[in-house]
Amino acid sequence: MKIPASHPRRASLGQRHALEKGLKIGIVTPTGMIAFGRGEAFDYLLGEKTSACAKQACQAGAALLLLSKKPVLSVNGNATMLCAKDAIKLAKITGAQIEANVFYPPVKKRRQLIARHFENFGKKILGKNAAKKITGLSSNRGMVEERGIFSADTVLVMIEDGDRTQALRKNGKKIIAIDLNPKSRTAQSAHVTIVDNVVRALPEIARQAHKLRNTNTEELEKIVSAFDNWKNLEESLALIKKRA
Ligand code: ATP
Repeated sequence: MKIPASHPRRASLGQRHALEKGLKIGIVTPTGMIAFGRGEAFDYLLGEKTSACAKQACQAGAALLLLSKKPVLSVNGNATMLCAKDAIKLAKITGAQIEANVFYPPVKKRRQLIARHFENFGKKILGKNAAKKITGLSSNRGMVEERGIFSADTVLVMIEDGDRTQALRKNGKKIIAIDLNPKSRTAQSAHVTIVDNVVRALPEIARQAHKLRNTNTEELEKIVSAFDNWKNLEESLALIKKRA
């Protein structure tokens, strides 16, 4: 059956094709495809659009990025194939760095491929010289760059697994997470959780950051402290339950 161009499923198909391409060129792993499928199911239940509560979380995330001295956007294979250009835009507006971080082997090779993918869009990113370790993680994901995630005050993670999110938080980082599942450990461990698809959330955070770029520190701090992550997660969950 041909799906009309305006139908949200078309967007989802586009994402699937991007990941299939990533799988072919070695940036995405089969496990990444499974994670995508999990996300797709939640996205379906969320109506495949950015909810009002996700917008509110995007605003808090934008304010937190603007307040941070050393923000880093952490990208894995899926994030790279789905939203590299949007990550570059957000990095530009907020002054954040981008760092590649992957779990499944071949780790070194995939970090290089991700860096090259960003270089094709004219952006140099970190992750190829990961020599420092985040404590509490035995896996490859524990290795980060000294001038990137290791010294970051805020890390934005997306399509991330809970172990790494929790370890980053224990290492004193403020965490902004983009995760379609409000019940995942990542969603539950972050300071600001945006329950939305990365392909919509990153542009929305960038829009909010652009709006807030001349806002003073005091006002930005007010936005962050007024944001209640638990309440926001409950609102997202209620939306899912309504459509389930
Ligand atoms: P956790 O370890 O945090 O409990 P998990 O075991 O599901 O979660 P992963 O598979 O590593 O861990 O995480 C992938 C997460 O990313 C899932 O919660 C999934 O719903 C979410 N996800 C997948 N695709 C997207 C996407 N395009 N945008 C946002 N979130 C996504």
